Amino acid sequence: MRVDLHSHSTFSDGVLTPEQLVLRAGQMQVDLLAITDHDCIDAIAPAEEAIARHNLRLTLVPGIEFSTKWHGFEIHILGLNFNGSDQALLKTIAQQQQKRQERAEKIARKLAHLNIEDLSAKVAKVSAKSISRMHFAKVLVAEKKCKDAPAAFTKYLSKNKAAYVSPDWLSIDQAIAAIKDAGGVACLAHPFHYDMKTKWLRRLFDDFVNWGGEATELIHPRVSPTKLNVIQDIAKEHKLYASVGSDFHAPNRWTELGRKLTLPSNFAPIWDRF
Ligand code: AMP
Ligand code: MN
Ligand code: MN
Ligand code: MN
Repeated sequence: MRVDLHSHSTFSDGVLTPEQLVLRAGQMQVDLLAITDHDCIDAIAPAEEAIARHNLRLTLVPGIEFSTKWHGFEIHILGLNFNGSDQALLKTIAQQQQKRQERAEKIARKLAHLNIEDLSAKVAKVSAKSISRMHFAKVLVAEKKCKDAPAAFTKYLSKNKAAYVSPDWLSIDQAIAAIKDAGGVACLAHPFHYDMKTKWLRRLFDDFVNWGGEATELIHPRVSPTKLNVIQDIAKEHKLYASVGSDFHAPNRWTELGRKLTLPSNFAPIWDRF
C-alpha cells in the first residue's frame, strides 16, 4: 500500500489545487492520502468531491498541520483522521487563522519600514485561505526584492531576521487536545527538521507523549541516516506509531507524492489507528 499523510494544497502554501493534488496522487498510485494544510481544512471537501468525480481509487484521510509554539520553537503537529465538523476543532482553526492574519499585517508593516512598499494587497492576492510567510516570500521574489524564496527567508522572514514576527500560535497540548477531542490522531511533524540538540528533542518527545500524542514522522528522503537513527531510537522508546509523508508543496526534483516513503519495519503504522 502506498501512503502519503503530509501534503499541501493552494489553500495554504502548496501550488496544486485540491483537485490537481488528488489527480497527481492517483497518478503516483497513492492509496491513502492526507492533505495537511497549515491550520486549515478547507481543501478536504473539494478534494473528496474531485476523487468522486474522477472516480479515483484513493482514500482521503482528513488532515491538518497545526503550527504550535513550544519553548520558543515552532513545532508542527499533524492532526489525522478527525471529524472535520467538530465545533471545538473548527473554533481552534479559526483562532489560528486570526493569528495568521494578524501576523501577516505585522510582517507587512515591518517590510514597509525596510523601504519595501506595503505588500499586504499583493500578498492577499496570492494567498488562498491560510496566509503564510511563503506567500510573502513569493511576492518578494515577484517584486524582484529577492532572487528566490529561500533568499527571502534568509534575508527577511526567518527567525531573528528583519521582518520576522514571533508568532502567537497555540501550544502543543492545546493542538493535541483539539485533534483528539475531534476523534483524530496527533502526529509530530518532521522532528528531524527542528534545529535543536538531542536533549531538547527528548524533551519534545516526552512532552508530546505526556500530552497524548501518539505518532511521529520518522523518515525523509533528504535527511541523513544518522539523524534519522537518533529520531527513530527516541520514537521507539516512546512507543509511538509511525507516519509517512512527503510534505509535498510543489512538484520538483526532490519531492513527489508517495515516493521513497517506506515505513521502518519495526514500527506500527499510524493507519492501524484509523
Ligand atoms: P509559516 O507557516 O507561515 O510560518 O510559513 C512557513 C512556510 O514556508 C513553511 O510551511 C514552509 O513550507 C515554507 N518555507 C520555505 N522555506 C522556508 C524556510 N527557509 N524557513 C521556513 N519556512 C520555509
Ligand atoms: Mn508550508
Ligand atoms: Mn511543517
Ligand atoms: Mn507541511
